[in-house]
Amino acid sequence: MVISVTEALYLEDSYRKECDATVVSVKDGKYIVLDQTIFYPKGGGQPGDTGKIMKGNEVYNVVYVGKFSGDISHEVDREGLRKGDNVHCLLSWERRYKLMRSHTAAHVFASLLCEDTGALVTGNQLEEDKIRFDFSLEKYDQEILNKYIDKANEFFRKDVPVKWYELPKKEALKIPGVIKMAKALPPDIPHLRIVEIVGVDKQADGGTHVRNLREVGQIKLLKAKNKGKYNRRVYFALV
Ligand SMILES: [Zn+2]
Repeated sequence: MVISVTEALYLEDSYRKECDATVVSVKDGKYIVLDQTIFYPKGGGQPGDTGKIMKGNEVYNVVYVGKFSGDISHEVDREGLRKGDNVHCLLSWERRYKLMRSHTAAHVFASLLCEDTGALVTGNQLEEDKIRFDFSLEKYDQEILNKYIDKANEFFRKDVPVKWYELPKKEALKIPGVIKMAKALPPDIPHLRIVEIVGVDKQADGGTHVRNLREVGQIKLLKAKNKGKYNRRVYFALV
């Protein structure tokens, strides 16, 4: 596995909105790798962040952030940054915070639904204005979905802390249901990052979340679709 040269500051503090950084490399003029970053790279069902990289008064808009060959690459809207430049990063915080709320909401909804019904999550994707969830469940109707939306909303009125920490992989794998999505597990790493919604859900996860369920607000069902005999797709959104 390729170890990233970038320190991913968002993993420790998902509320960090700014940081200084040094440009480590520039590819094709517009793909920037930094020594540290607050920008989350697209992955695990969560979109990449947007924002700005500033060099003095020069503004470079970050239009896409992804992981390529293990490196976090920031695509900017124009050329001009050079290796060794000292820069300042600014996150589009409103957008990211909404994604953090949605992401945390998705955990709670999925955990309640799966625990009760035995459904398996087969896919999920956060978008700026909605959350998509795919799961396998034989018996299902709108009423069932609304029941779990209501249950989740009850939790979002409570003071429930959300924590994240690293555990040795061996120890982490003993937690029941810790790997919700097989493809979400990065291979050959000694530690797993665990996201724990106290009393609700515990799973291996590299995304960004809010610190307390109260920050989520409320969610509503948008639509549900059948994607096959057992495959269901549901869209919900923050209210
Ligand atoms: Zn998560």
